[in-house]
Amino acid sequence: MSGQQTIAAGTGVGLRLKRGEQLRVIDPEGGQSGDLLAFSLDGSERFSNGRTFDYDGKIYVSTGDVLWSNLSNPMLTIICDEVGRHDMLYAACTLEMYRIQYGVTGYHANCHDNLCTALRSVGVEPHPLPTPFNFFMNVEVAAGGRLVFAPPPSRAGDSIVLRAEMDLAIALSACPASTCNGGKTPGPLAYEMMGG
Ligand SMILES: [Zn+2]
Repeated sequence: MSGQQTIAAGTGVGLRLKRGEQLRVIDPEGGQSGDLLAFSLDGSERFSNGRTFDYDGKIYVSTGDVLWSNLSNPMLTIICDEVGRHDMLYAACTLEMYRIQYGVTGYHANCHDNLCTALRSVGVEPHPLPTPFNFFMNVEVAAGGRLVFAPPPSRAGDSIVLRAEMDLAIALSACPASTCNGGKTPGPLAYEMMGG
C-alpha cells in the first residue's frame, strides 16, 4: 500500500477502499476538521447520517461505532479514534454558504465542490451530495437545541482509523471554513490506506 499522503489545505481527494482495508485520516498540525463521504463503487448506495443516528443511537460516534448507508448496510467501522469528537449534523460547506453567512464575493474553496470533484475522480456521480461525516469537527448542542462550534480537539498527529465494510469510493476534504477550525487559517490533512 502507499504511504501517507497529504491533502493540501482547502482541497479534497478521492480514493477507493476495498472491503477489509483501513483508512487512517490524520490531522498533521492539529485543530483541523474535514469531511468524509463514502459511496458504493457504482454510486447507488451512500453514507447516511440519518441511518447512522438510527442504528448507533447517538449523534457523537467513536471507536466501535459504524457509519451506515442509506440502504441500511454498514459502510465503515471506526476502529481507532484518538480525537473522539466528530459531527454528522452539518451539510458540507458550499459556495452559497460562504456568500450568505460571510459575504464572500467570488469563488471560495468549499467542501461540497471538493467532495464532488473527488467522487467524480473515482467514478461516482455524487448528486445529491449527502451530509458528510465531519471528522474532528466539534459541535455542541446547547440548551434549546442551539448549535455551538468549538475548535476541533485534534492535536498534531491525531488520527481516526476506519475499516471498510464494503468496497467503497471515498472522498475527503480538508475543510476551508475557519469557523469549523477554531478561527485559524485552514490547514492540511493527511491519510494512509492499510491492508485488511
Ligand atoms: Zn467545509
